[in-house]
Amino acid sequence: MPNQKRSNNISLTRPTKKNNNNNLDNDQQEVLQWVELGSNKTSWVWKHFDVKTDGRAYCRYKILKNGVEEECNYSCIYNSQTSTQQYHLNSIHKEFEKKEKKVSIIFLLLLFMY
Ligand SMILES: [Zn+2]
Repeated sequence: MPNQKRSNNISLTRPTKKNNNNNLDNDQQEVLQWVELGSNKTSWVWKHFDVKTDGRAYCRYKILKNGVEEECNYSCIYNSQTSTQQYHLNSIHKEFEKKEKKVSIIFLLLLFMY
C-alpha cells in the first residue's frame, strides 16, 4: 500500500488568477459595462444618467474640473424611481426637466405684451 499523503493545500481548488495586473491597485474593481435600458428610459433624467452592470445609475453630466471636462460620476442605486437622480440633477447641476412648450408660450406672451 502506498502511503497516501494528505495534502491540505489541494483541497481548495481555486481558479488560478493571473497576477499580471498586480501592480494596479484597483484589482478588486471589476470592469463595469454600460447597460442599455432601451425603452425603460422614459424619464428625462436618463439624458444625464446611465446604468452600469453593478446595478447603479451613474451621472454622466459634464462638469469642469480644473478646466478639464469630466463626467460627474455620481452614482446611486438604480430602480424604477428616478427621484434620487432628479434630486441630484436639480441640486448639484441646477438641471431641471425642460418644459420647452411652456417657455415658448410665455415668451410669445411677453413679445405680445411689448
Ligand atoms: Zn452629477
